[in-house]
Amino acid sequence: MPFTTLGLIPELLRVLSDQKYTEPTPIQQAAIPAILNKRDVLGIAKTGSGKTASYVLPILMNLQKAVALKNRHVNVLVLVPTRELAEQVKDVFQTFGKGVPVPVKTLAVYGGVSINPQMTALQGTNVLIATPGRLLELLEMNSVYLSSIETLVLDEADKMLNLGFKEEVNKIIALLPEKRQNILLSATLNQDLQLIHQVLLHDPLVIKIEAQE
Ligand code: ADP
Ligand code: MG
Repeated sequence: MPFTTLGLIPELLRVLSDQKYTEPTPIQQAAIPAILNKRDVLGIAKTGSGKTASYVLPILMNLQKAVALKNRHVNVLVLVPTRELAEQVKDVFQTFGKGVPVPVKTLAVYGGVSINPQMTALQGTNVLIATPGRLLELLEMNSVYLSSIETLVLDEADKMLNLGFKEEVNKIIALLPEKRQNILLSATLNQDLQLIHQVLLHDPLVIKIEAQE
């Protein structure tokens, strides 16, 4: 199945081919159409199966229709466990963001670095990729508002729980509008994650890609 059947615009298809993405991985085949249709998605697939593009591509498409932005109100929130992952996800949004006509501003924020440049950079940000602790700090300082979030992504959700971010994540989720799209990605599905996805996701498309021998 080629990328052309998934409902992406020609400009994005061109960037995909520039990036040598010749065909979608199984999780991308299943997740892209569902996320384009604003469905909640639970995606379980091992590391390296292409989970990032499975949500970045349809989110970039959906943002093309988003209404005019309010100051310091972000549209999409991606929660990640580490700063390395935050930077990686930002790079993927920026690479494929070149393939959409309406510009999408992406910012990664995480702890361990100075907060002031992040506060300034939040101005006009559409997609915010954040580690939970730093996001809570920015929220306390009224540097960002989450009431316009349309889509929440929890990437590497299993790692997030293992690192003990559950309470922080719950605090953040409580600040989001109730009507939103939820996307949860993980390499494994343990009992903790089962519980989280049952309360977080509404009628999700569950995609479970078994490891190939
Ligand atoms: P995961 O999040 O599942 O661990 P990533 O999204 O980090 O996987 O992708 C792993 C690698 O595969 C990355 O280098 C990415 O650029 C590459 N990749 C993802 N999808 C495709 C594709 N359809 N074709 C070729 N390479 C891909
Ligand atoms: Mg990943």
